[in-house]
Amino acid sequence: MSTHIIETRQVPVKEAFDLIVAGGGVAGIAAGLAGARRGLKTMLVEKSPLLGGLATLGLINWYEPLCDGTGRTMTTGIAEELLKLSVAYGYGNLPEQWTRQGEPKPEPRKRYASRFNPSIFALALNELLVKNGVELRYDMIASWPVMEGCRCTGLITESAGGREYFPAKVIVDATGDADIMARAGVPCRNGVNYLTYTAHGCTTESIKKVQDSNDMVYLNDNRFWVGSDLNGRGHPEGLHFFWGIPNEERSEYIRMGQALLLERIRDSRKDEMCPYALPGMAQLRKTRCIVGTETFIGEDGQRRENSIGAAGDFRIPGKHYEIPLGVLFNGGFPNLLAAGRIVSADGDGWEITRVIPTAALTGEAAGTAASLMIGEGKQAGELNAQEIQRALEKSGVKIHF
Ligand SMILES: Cc1cc2nc3c(=O)[nH]c(=O)nc-3n(C[C@H](O)[C@H](O)[C@H](O)COP(=O)(O)OP(=O)(O)OC[C@H]3O[C@@H](n4cnc5c(N)ncnc54)[C@H](O)[C@@H]3O)c2cc1C
Repeated sequence: MSTHIIETRQVPVKEAFDLIVAGGGVAGIAAGLAGARRGLKTMLVEKSPLLGGLATLGLINWYEPLCDGTGRTMTTGIAEELLKLSVAYGYGNLPEQWTRQGEPKPEPRKRYASRFNPSIFALALNELLVKNGVELRYDMIASWPVMEGCRCTGLITESAGGREYFPAKVIVDATGDADIMARAGVPCRNGVNYLTYTAHGCTTESIKKVQDSNDMVYLNDNRFWVGSDLNGRGHPEGLHFFWGIPNEERSEYIRMGQALLLERIRDSRKDEMCPYALPGMAQLRKTRCIVGTETFIGEDGQRRENSIGAAGDFRIPGKHYEIPLGVLFNGGFPNLLAAGRIVSADGDGWEITRVIPTAALTGEAAGTAASLMIGEGKQAGELNAQEIQRALEKSGVKIHF
């Protein structure tokens, strides 16, 4: 049997867009919003029926801090807008000091972070993008970039309606796995993952806590987290690590996570715990990111002339970072931009870029960059850092820490 087949089929050409964003996690949402607010005709393609990606469908409902852990706000703009939206209609535990107007922040250890209700956040995100005129396509996979040399002319999508082609001037890959970039031929870096499976559910104990406090933030019980923590503690002994891109491996990751959780549930009393939501996405932290013109490796305290925004470290207070423009693209590909956990990063840098606030930050930068590229007929590699900084600052993004 041959190892490959050649596929040729006619694909209908659909409406053209200025900007197509592949993936509707926090990064894609920020990119789509930034593009639409700057007047781009924008479409966002999301393969699931919900917006928010890992933050909602993946049940990762802790918005890591926007501050540096010493009372100073680091990440602003759409990242801050989305944090506020995440707790606008549902529970949250955002410390009150961060909702007051103006400095100083008297209790630095209470970080600018919050839990949120993932279902309510997804509904609110839908409303936000619709209000801002983003053409939302749910249940649709952005499957292939159509390339003319290194320029992408648009995306092929797959849905129940079949395969379709949407032309676009700029494409932002916010798939969390760099699906579009990798298929376009952009060099990529692979990640490594421990096995984690976290579901949401309540226990008799957590229900009691809700009743005692009158606060729904306590409803979810940690016992529905199985496998590893951030640092590998809890990764099953002897088990290999996961890259998470080959489907055999990703499916194994999901199968094993589900089996671990079932084991825990079997060991508990039926009337004691009740899972109410299983993750709708593989909870892989780092699968693939691009190798960009620049790679962010997490240089603490380094100021950058071409910063697209400041960030702290969710793990360690007192760290200050500036993310460089060159993480968003590889100069060989004129109209492809990356956003979120797939921007060019490595080591500590990848830890910092992959979390919700920084994913939103790079998303906003990508959407803004797209509008400047289109407005001035520029390629990604020709972007002027000062110009993009001015545009981002105007939208409330803090460029330097
Ligand atoms: C176990 C775990 C714990 C974490 N804990 C925290 C935490 O406590 N706090 C925190 O801030 N961060 C945490 N993170 C990280 C954070 O949740 C994510 O890295 C961040 O939300 C990534 O956002 P994103 O938009 O870049 O990607 P994603 O959230 O992965 O979004 C990508 C979106 O694209 C869609 N998509 C993918 N491929 C396609 C395609 N081909 N076509 C169309 N759509 C597509 C997906 O369905 C998804 O909606 C955690 C991550 C994991 C895995």
